[in-house]
Amino acid sequence: LNSRLAEFGTTIFAEMSALAVRTGSINLGQGFPDVDGPESVREAAVRALRDGRGNQYPPGPGVPELREAVAAHQSRFYGELGLTYDPDTEILVTAGATEAVAASLLGLVEPGDEVIALEPYYDSYAASIALAGGTRVPVTLRPRDGAYALDLDELRDAVTDRTRLILLNTPHNPTGTVLTRDELAAIAGLCVERDLLAVTDEVYEHLVYDGEHLPLASFEGMRERTVTISSAGKTFAFTGWKVGWAMAPPELLAAVRAAKQYLTYVASGPFQYAIAEALALPDTYYEGLRDDLRTKRDLLSAGLRDAGFEVFRSAGTYFITTDIRPLGASDGIDFCLSLPERCGVVAVPTQVFYDHQPEAAHLVRFAFCKREEVLRDATSRLKGLT
Ligand code: PMP
Ligand code: GLN
Repeated sequence: LNSRLAEFGTTIFAEMSALAVRTGSINLGQGFPDVDGPESVREAAVRALRDGRGNQYPPGPGVPELREAVAAHQSRFYGELGLTYDPDTEILVTAGATEAVAASLLGLVEPGDEVIALEPYYDSYAASIALAGGTRVPVTLRPRDGAYALDLDELRDAVTDRTRLILLNTPHNPTGTVLTRDELAAIAGLCVERDLLAVTDEVYEHLVYDGEHLPLASFEGMRERTVTISSAGKTFAFTGWKVGWAMAPPELLAAVRAAKQYLTYVASGPFQYAIAEALALPDTYYEGLRDDLRTKRDLLSAGLRDAGFEVFRSAGTYFITTDIRPLGASDGIDFCLSLPERCGVVAVPTQVFYDHQPEAAHLVRFAFCKREEVLRDATSRLKGLT
C-alpha cells in the first residue's frame, strides 16, 4: 500500500456489515435501507435492460435523459432560490456521490493544498483528499443544546493561504446536523471573502425532518465557485445502483469530468434511465419518504434513550449519534465489537470519522433506515444491556 493510503484500512462500513452477517445481528451500522425503492423505478430499470438502453457504454457525461431529469429536479426544488443548471454543460453523472467527491478533489486540488472538512466526516473524504495529495484540515462539530453544531469562528480560523476548498456536507453524516440559513450564509461569505471553492455533498437533501435543506450554491456569490453533489442512493433507496451527479458551472465541472473519465469513465447504464424516471416522481413521493423516515428517527431515538444511551438530536440523514457513557462504557470500538455477541445489534463507532479519535471515543452511530419492527426489535435487545 502506498504512503497516500497507508493510514486507511478497510472501510468501517464493510467491516461492520461483515460482522452483522457473520453474527446474524440486526445491522444498524452501514446506512442502507432494508426495503428497496419504488417498484415503478425497478420496472423502469428492467425496461431499460430489456430494451437495450444503457447496456453499452453510456455517454461520458451521463445519458441526456438523466441529465435533463437532474436539471428539472433542481429547478423544481430550488428554482425559486435561483438555482438552476444546464443539463448539457453543468451536470455530470457519476458512480454515486462517492465518485463525484473523489473526482472533484482529484480535479481541483493541487498537492499541498489544504481542504477543510467538517469533522466527523464521511470516511471516503479523508481518503479522497489524501489521493488528491491534499492536506485535510478538520473543523470539529461539537454538542450544543443536545445536537451537534458548527463553530463558525473555528471554521474562519481554519482558513489559511493554502486553503483551496471547503468540503461541506449538509445534512451531515454522521451527526444528523442540518446547517441553517445563517450558518450557510456565513460559510458563503467566508468562501467569497477568501476566494475559496466549495464542494458540497448533499446526498441527504430530501431527508430533513426538522428545518429545511438549503443548497450552499444558492447563496450569494456561491454558484460560480461550488460543486454540488447528490445521489439517487438515499433519495430513492437504491444504494446499490450507484447513480450520483455533480453540478457546477462549466469550467469547474470540466475539472471534475477530467478526473472522473479516468476513474470509471461511465457507470450504471440502465440504472441511469430508471433514475431519470425516479427524479420525476410526484412531490408526494418525496414527502412520503421524509415522513416515513421521521417516524423511524423518532422511534429509534426514543428506543435508544429508553435503553440508557444519551441521544443527540438528529435533524436529517439516516443516522443518530449517541453517547455510551451512561451505559458504563467508554470506548465505542470495544463497545461496537462486543455488541453483536452481547445483544445481536451492529452499530458504528463514530471515532473512525475523526482525526482526533480520543475526543469521540464515547460516541456510537446508529442507522434508522430500517423497518419499524426491526428498529423495535433492536431497541428491545439494546435494553437488555443495562
Ligand atoms: N456522502 C455521504 C455523506 C454519505 O453518507 C454517503 C453514503 N451514502 C455517500 C456520500 C455515498 O453516496 P453514494 O452511495 O451515492 O456513493
Ligand atoms: N453512507 C453509508 C454510511 O454512512 C454507507 C456508505 C458505504 O458503505 N460506503 O453508512
